[in-house]
Amino acid sequence: MSFGVFDRDGNLREERRAAIGHFHGGGMSRTRAVHEAGHYVAGRAVGASVAMRSDGNVDAFGLPNAQAQIVFLLAGGYAAGTGAGCGADNANARAALNEYPPAQRSRVWRQAQAQARRIVAARRGEIDRLARRYS
Ligand SMILES: [Zn+2]
Repeated sequence: MSFGVFDRDGNLREERRAAIGHFHGGGMSRTRAVHEAGHYVAGRAVGASVAMRSDGNVDAFGLPNAQAQIVFLLAGGYAAGTGAGCGADNANARAALNEYPPAQRSRVWRQAQAQARRIVAARRGEIDRLARRYS
């Protein structure tokens, strides 16, 4: 889903997007809490506004582009250290990747993976604190 950011005169300044980070592992286990916290922290790191829903899924609003959306989506699994429960996240990340021309996709994917890993490593303390609050 995308939406426009308009100036006072009603001109479209930029196109922003929203995404939902999912985890289908069931229940708010410790692993799931770390996964969701990874989405949350990565969403903020790429400039989005994020919110954790009462069901535990994380919404990101105002993602600046498709690569940022991929970073947000991959960070959950990276934070948790497992791809378990990441099927929807991965499918959504692949869909965002397909917005790029085929010749750019492998570069964008590698950059998004590296960025998600860097964010998770640099903000591990914040992710763990958030996860403790939610599990
Ligand atoms: Zn997820």
